[in-house]
Parts: sequence; structure tokens; C-alpha cells
Amino acid sequence: MVLPAKLCTEFGKVTLQNYHVSLLHYLLCKQMSNKKRKENSNISRISAADLTIERNPVLKPKPEPSTLVFGKQFSDHMLTISWSAAGGWEAPQIKPFQNLSLHPASSALHYSIELFEGMKAFRGVDNRIRLFRPMLNMERMYRSTERSCLPLFDKDELIKCINKLVEIDQEWVPYSTDASLYIRPTFIGTEPSLGVSRAGHALLFVIVGPVGPYFATGGFSPVSLLADPRYVRAWRGGVGEYKMGGNYGPTIAVQSEAARQKCQQVLWLYGENEEITEVGTMNLFIYWTTEKGEKELVTPPLDGIILPGVTRQSLLDLAREWGDFKVTERRVLMKELIDALDDGRILEVFGSGTACVVCPVGSLLYRGQTYQIPTMKNGPDLAKRFHKELTDIQYGRTQRDWAPLII
Ligand SMILES: *Cc1c(COP(=O)(O)O)cnc(C)c1O
Repeated sequence: MVLPAKLCTEFGKVTLQNYHVSLLHYLLCKQMSNKKRKENSNISRISAADLTIERNPVLKPKPEPSTLVFGKQFSDHMLTISWSAAGGWEAPQIKPFQNLSLHPASSALHYSIELFEGMKAFRGVDNRIRLFRPMLNMERMYRSTERSCLPLFDKDELIKCINKLVEIDQEWVPYSTDASLYIRPTFIGTEPSLGVSRAGHALLFVIVGPVGPYFATGGFSPVSLLADPRYVRAWRGGVGEYKMGGNYGPTIAVQSEAARQKCQQVLWLYGENEEITEVGTMNLFIYWTTEKGEKELVTPPLDGIILPGVTRQSLLDLAREWGDFKVTERRVLMKELIDALDDGRILEVFGSGTACVVCPVGSLLYRGQTYQIPTMKNGPDLAKRFHKELTDIQYGRTQRDWAPLII
């Protein structure tokens, strides 16, 4: 007797003796599992073993690493994986970099059913290529996927497909320890319907492109911030802790307002007490001397309005390993920062993110007053130490399991 295909996939290997029991169980569960499957297809998994590769016959010239502008150049290939409620995950494809073709009613275009990740591949001093803590990105993407009601995916299989894309486009990983290959996994709802409901069609794709150093001059250059409590990036109960596209579009107008006031980035405040949350699209760190006279590194906690940065986690991990100063995740109010500035207790303020690793803050415009922040005057010793430690790992100068080799 031939078992129905669905039975085989759902129950694995079924022996003849327990076949009848299984069949009964199958029939009883069928209605329930059909409903479940519609909600979240775990029935067919992403399978890296099924990856098909179509090589691009025309390869673009690679830009000079020194001329790179973030996010404008892309490699020769891309990864796409389609999903539908009816058919589950299709075989992943690596194919020539190309435009997408979307139904104009696609839910990503109307209701921002969209999420993304940002990670990098580095060509090390040994000419081998490494990622940096990629499973933290996969886990974050998985959480964004759950929150977006998009179909869940197998993180290990997805990272295998991404590794393959980087391998195919390996010549696009710059031959430089000041540059890297930016990797942009993206997941969109492609349901061709204007109903505000769970997408029954979705597309996961990954594009990659070379990026240069964040600071063009090589050394650190500090940024100026606008802190205006009229604007909010995220709120408790909202989705600020997920990397969903809808969180970013609305920040552009505020960023423009900052630029109009001659500031480079926005310091995002939250609530009546003006909690300090993030800076631009970076997490925020303050290194100061507490009122008790202790050196302390402090960053806001992951309590719903903070994006859980991979760099943030890495800085906390390193600082706790070093044990050279107190490391605290807690809410910090604007008043505390201003008081500490007035008392001369601020040592360094910096942002953290994949793009820059650490980005020193030099000044702050708040309620019409400009405050100088002595980050650069203080080295910045801590920001430099973090930068060196992380880039040493990324470029293979220090061996650590944070940077798995892919080639
Ligand atoms: C991506 C992002 C960060 C930084 O995360 P990393 O994983 O360190 O790059 C911080 N804040 C926001 C709002 C972000 O979108």
C-alpha cells in the first residue's frame, strides 16, 4: 500500500504495523493541522539542499573600495525563496541580480508587511571570508517574522543559503580590512489582496553589496545629535524591537529636521520622563563616572522599544568579560545625561551598529541648547578598544567563534 505523501511528511517513517493507528490519528488531526498549516507553514521547510543556482553570464566590474557609497552597489547574484500557504516553501534559488515582479496589490506595498536584516561578510587578513555572529541575525529575523505573521523558516537552512550566495559572489567581498560585503536579508508579504490580513504568499530574498568604511577619513569622527521630545521612534507595546521596514520610513522626516538644525543624527527620546533610547539606527552607550564615583558603561535595556543590536550584545559581552568597569542595562533619563554633563562625569557617548561598529557622539542639541560631549577628548579610549576588538575578530586577526568561516 502506498502511503499518501502528506502522511509520510507528517509522520516520518511509518511501519506497516502502526500504519492503521497512524492513519486514524492522521484523519483525526487532519482538520486541525490544516488550520495550523495555514497559519504557519512548518510543513515544508526551507531546504538548502534543494538550492538551485543560475550563474550570471555577465559580471559587473567591481568598484574601488575607496569609492563605495553605502547601499548603492550590488553584486551579480541574489537569493530568492518563495512561500505560499498552499504550497509551503519552494526550493531556494540563487540567480542573476534582477528586478522583482510584484502584483500591485502585494501586501508589502500597502501595509508594510516587510522586515529585513543587516549583516556583513569580511575578507580577513588570511584572505578567508567570515560572517559575524550570523545566528543572532537569524534569530532576530525569526522574531520579526513571527511578529509580521509571515511564515516561519528554518534558521540553519537560511544561513546555509546565505553562505552559498556569499560564496558565489565571493569576489565582491572587498580585498580590504576597511571594507566588507553588506548582506541584506529581506522578507515581504506578496499576497495579491487589499484585505488587511495574514499574507498567504511571501517572498524571502537576500541581496548583497560591497560597503566601505563608515568614517571616510579613516579615524573616528564624532556626530552631532538632535534630541527633540516631540518625536518618538518606538513605544512600549509597539514594534520598535523588530527590524520591520515600517519603523524606518517615518524617521526620515525627523532625520531631515535634524539636518536642517545642523545635526547629523537623531537621539530618540521616549515618554514623559524623556528616556534615552537609541541614536539614529544605532544603539546607544554612555560611559561615565556615577555619582558614587564608579566607572560604568550603561545602555538602555531590551524592554520593548530598543532594537536588540548584534553589536550592542557584543559590546556588552566583551565589557563583561573584561570586568574593568561596571556594565549596566537600565533606563537612562535625559535629565541624568544632562546632569552628568554639567558635573563633568561623562567620559564617552557612542552609538553601536553593524555599519560603524561604534560611532562617537560629539555634541547634543536639546531644547535649543547645544551641549558639548567630551567623547573625543577622552580618546575615545573605550570606543577605540571596542572597535579594535571587534574588527580584529571580524578580519581574522583574533580567532573567536563569533566569526565563523564561510570560505
Ligand atoms: C539595526 C539597528 C541597530 C543595530 O543593530 P546591529 O545588529 O548592531 O547592526 C540599532 N538600532 C536600530 C533601530 C536598528 O535598526
